[in-house]
Amino acid sequence: MDIDLHIFEDDQELTEICKKYWGISEDDAFIFEMSEISFAHNISTYEIITLVKKYSIAYSRHIKCSSCNKPYYYNNRQDFSSQNNKQGWICPDCKKANEVSWMRQKKSQTRQRTTYQTL
Ligand SMILES: [Zn+2]
Repeated sequence: MDIDLHIFEDDQELTEICKKYWGISEDDAFIFEMSEISFAHNISTYEIITLVKKYSIAYSRHIKCSSCNKPYYYNNRQDFSSQNNKQGWICPDCKKANEVSWMRQKKSQTRQRTTYQTL
């Protein structure tokens, strides 16, 4: 199992919906069909996705940011099931930090070059 589920609300039904949405078996297959959850709780699949996104985060147990070790979190079931290679994933925070440091580096390089030329 590769999902570490965090639920932010204490509501029993909400917890159940999130758990069912992210519930996976030993071989990483989803246990409940969307239609089953929809039927059991009398809400649309669209509502399920909205609630789950709003009140829970499904972290990966294996995929971590290659820079700061923060765990990857799945956007939705498709994201979990997709075979996209997530190894070497970099979290949004680090990506931003990298961009800033890259820009700084570039700026200082340009500055160095200008200094050199004026010498
Ligand atoms: Zn990171």
